[in-house]
Parts: sequence; C-alpha cells; structure tokens
Amino acid sequence: MAEKKGIGNIHTHQINEYCLPRCIKRQQAGLPVWFLKSGIPDLIGGRQGREFLNLMRLEKISDVAEKLKVHMDKAEDSQSGFKKIDYSVVLLLDFKFVSKKAIIEYDYIKIMKDTAEACAQYPFRFFPFFCYDPRRKNVYKLLKDAYESYGYVGIKIYPATGFDPRPHKDECMESINNNGGIKENLESLYKFASRNTLPIITHCGPGGSYKCSVDIKKKFKDIWRYTEPSNFLEIAYDYGLRICFAHMGGKTDHRLEKELATQWHNQIVNLIGLADSWSSKGRFFADQSYGISHVINKKKKLKEHIDRTRKYLEDKGIGKYILFGTDWPLGLYKFTEKKYINSYRDKNGLTQEQQEKYFSDNIARFLFGESKKIPQNYVDFTKEQCAIENRPFRIPEWVKEVNGEYFLR
Ligand SMILES: [Zn+2]
Repeated sequence: MAEKKGIGNIHTHQINEYCLPRCIKRQQAGLPVWFLKSGIPDLIGGRQGREFLNLMRLEKISDVAEKLKVHMDKAEDSQSGFKKIDYSVVLLLDFKFVSKKAIIEYDYIKIMKDTAEACAQYPFRFFPFFCYDPRRKNVYKLLKDAYESYGYVGIKIYPATGFDPRPHKDECMESINNNGGIKENLESLYKFASRNTLPIITHCGPGGSYKCSVDIKKKFKDIWRYTEPSNFLEIAYDYGLRICFAHMGGKTDHRLEKELATQWHNQIVNLIGLADSWSSKGRFFADQSYGISHVINKKKKLKEHIDRTRKYLEDKGIGKYILFGTDWPLGLYKFTEKKYINSYRDKNGLTQEQQEKYFSDNIARFLFGESKKIPQNYVDFTKEQCAIENRPFRIPEWVKEVNGEYFLR
C-alpha cells in the first residue's frame, strides 16, 4: 500500500476580534464597528455569516483552533472518497503598526503564546508561523523566543502594513514609529531564517488588512511598492531562503484589483521559474489562497481558475512551487474548507497526481525542505504541552518517526 501523505493547507489564521485593531475590523467588512456589534449583520448574514461573526467573538484562541479543526475534519467525504485536511499552517498577524491609533485588545506576546498552545492541543495538525514586524520593539528577541520555546516553524511578514522588506532601504510609512531600526531587525530575521532553514510567507496582493494606514485617495500607492514581489529577489538568493507569496499576487479577475494583481501574478510566475535553477538554496513558492475565494459560486470563473492551476502544476519550472491555501476564516462568508478543497477534487478538478503535488508534496517541501523533517523545536514543545495537560502524544499516519526524529510522509 502506498504511504499516506498528509493533506495540508498553507494559509490559515486562528484569530478572533481581540487580535485585530478596530480600524481593520471595520474595513474588513466595510461596515462600522457599532453596526457589526449590533446583531443586525447576524440576522442578514445567513448561516455562514453568523458562523463567522460567532467565531470572531470566541474569547479563547484555543476555541478558534477547535473550530478550525472541525472544519478541516468536515472536508472528509466517505461517499466520494475525499479525505479530511490533515494539517494547517497557522499564520499570526501583527497589525499594531498599521496606524498610530491602532488599539488591539490582546497583547502580541499573549497572541503568540496562546496560539502556540492552541496549536499544540492537536499534535501535527497545526504548524504556527510567527508574524514579524521589524518596527516592533525587541521583535527579534521575541522571534527567538517563539522558535526556541513555543514551537514556531516559520515566519509571516506583511510589508503592506507599511515597511519595506529590503534591509538596505530601511524605510517605513512616514506616519508610523520605527521603534528599533528596521535595517537591523530585517537582517536579523533573514539570518535567523537562513540559519534555521525556516520558511517565510509574505502577504502579496493589492487587497488586505492594512487599509487604515493609508490615504484612501492615494489608492494605496505608497504601500504597494512594499508588496512588490521583486523586492524579495536578492533576499531569497543571498540568504538562501524559501519564500512564499501569499495570495499569489491577488485576485486577477477582481473588479478593482485585477490590473496590479495580474502584474504581480506574472512576476511571481517568472520569479519562481528563475529561482528553480539557482545555485543558492533560495526558492520561491506561491499559495493560491486568492483563487477560489471570489469565484467559488461562479462556475465559469472557477473552471478557469482550476484549469490554470492544472497548467501550473504540470509546468516543469514552477509545478513544484504552487501551494494550496484557503485563508480560513476570512472567506467563511462564502465558503467552508470542505467547499474550497472539494472544488479542486470534484470531477472537473485536478488529477490524483496533481492533487498529491498541490496538497502534499509542494507544501511539505516549502515547510520543511526536501527532507520534510519536522523541526525538533516543534516536537519538543508539543510533547511538553501534552505532558502538562495529560494528553497522549499521538503520531498520525501522515507522519513517520525515525530514531526520535519526525518527518512528513
Ligand atoms: Zn491570510
């Protein structure tokens, strides 16, 4: 019998409303906070809208993790032989610096610790990524702590919140404090990721949760240059890093985003192909968490998206670098994990081989490199948490143990 490979989702969040600043909550939904809290949206949002709002009101991140797990499990369908989603990458968010006025109820250190503990409740089902904002005081120290003591296995960055990811630029949005030297903090980040072979995901699309930091009239043009995929060319090459462009540049057939998103999308495809033949260890990946989110109920557009995914996966240069991701729970209004993943698995979807690449091999390669070895810091922290809470440390079928070391299959 063939080995059971895990089905992974590279892009999820375990957030509630206490993790986000008010300005983002409002702009995410395009509605004022008082209105969101009034209960009216629950009445008109339908079942899925209600589910999303209820989720955002959960107080504990561990409860959000539990919900995500339920959604991952529900993707299993015995009738069609579809398996559940085995593991998800959980990306922290740090929106403290989107605006001088941003107030977030939960302290970022609390979010970091709570998310780590929530992930460890279910060994090998959640892999947490630390969100690194170079404007945060002591951010490098915090990253080291997250890695050494809390089982974090990767890094998320969000330049669109207002900083240039290139160290030599040492630049951030004028209106926002730079607490400790962007240049040094970015260099420390890339060196650390390189030394510990940690993957980096960077937000890459014209949309996103940073709208309160910019002048709407300027249409975000101050911000977009920070997102530019080519910013990462030298970083990936020089430091030998695996870097994933989240959302693959954005929604290429969206009413407002399509022009820039299409440019970035094409740039990303070129960058991935270029890095494939580098002598440096640097490689580019892209997650398609943009793809289905706005076309899931439009048959023709959905078909176009799937066809394009199929084409990419079959391409020699880039087929190894395209990743499945959903951005849960941010699309819960429109789709569930089950609906999302099954769009790729239906009769019009991807072949078995393509699915294996998209859901398993490519994700494992991005996360843990060719060896697929799960970092020891993750294993140690998870074991520790299980011992504290008196839970068994079970090894699922998509993970194998060899002499005390753990690998994805
Ligand atoms: Zn996201």
